[in-house]
Amino acid sequence: MFAVLFLVLLSSSSLGSPAYLPAFGRFAILIHDVSPAYLPQLEEITALIDEYGLQNETYLFVIPDHGGKMPMWKYKAFMDFIEGLKREGYHVELHGYTHVGDEFDCNASTAGRKLELGLDALAVINATPEYFIAPRYSLSKPALGVLLDHNITVIGEDFIYFPNGTAEPIYNREYTWYLPEPLLDYQLASARASSAFTRGTFFLSLHPGAANNEAGVEFLKAFLRSVAGCENRDGRRGLG
Ligand SMILES: [Zn+2]
Repeated sequence: MFAVLFLVLLSSSSLGSPAYLPAFGRFAILIHDVSPAYLPQLEEITALIDEYGLQNETYLFVIPDHGGKMPMWKYKAFMDFIEGLKREGYHVELHGYTHVGDEFDCNASTAGRKLELGLDALAVINATPEYFIAPRYSLSKPALGVLLDHNITVIGEDFIYFPNGTAEPIYNREYTWYLPEPLLDYQLASARASSAFTRGTFFLSLHPGAANNEAGVEFLKAFLRSVAGCENRDGRRGLG
């Protein structure tokens, strides 16, 4: 009897509905792979976000030294760009260090060293990250421990992990991964239905480059417009 009850509780918590996270509200945009390699694409995406006034809802996951050969601090235009976005209300966060392979599927000392290097890079623009997404969502247990010990919350593909040791299921989806034009309407309907029906926080993940084709940009215009419209209509943050 106890075992059955335990299993029911276990499955209901792991398959449970996505959590509502007050720190994010009803909706947040997670931009992955923010690096000098994608400056023009990031400019195009953030121009759309600015147009709909969603700067505060947007989290930039920065790769401090993309590929181990693109140290962000050596790219002045990029640094100025990120600093400007930060002033507008965008959040500046960490996405690994070099993004080479599954770099955070590593031991604790390697994770600690890479984290310190990443924090140093963001400190140049006075950014202190609160959140971390591992490249390819690939993270060893020791590396997760290192991040949480630094009081950094880790966002995974389906879960969010808090420094106090708790985890919650999340709704985190990407609709604009080289979206083919014929699928635009389907993806838009799917995103709208999911955002309307989830009672939790809706995370929209996107990658510069992958999101910048014609269908991706159309998707973002239409979806962000509906998000912004809901916010204006009922005077509170969130989706209808
Ligand atoms: Zn990435």
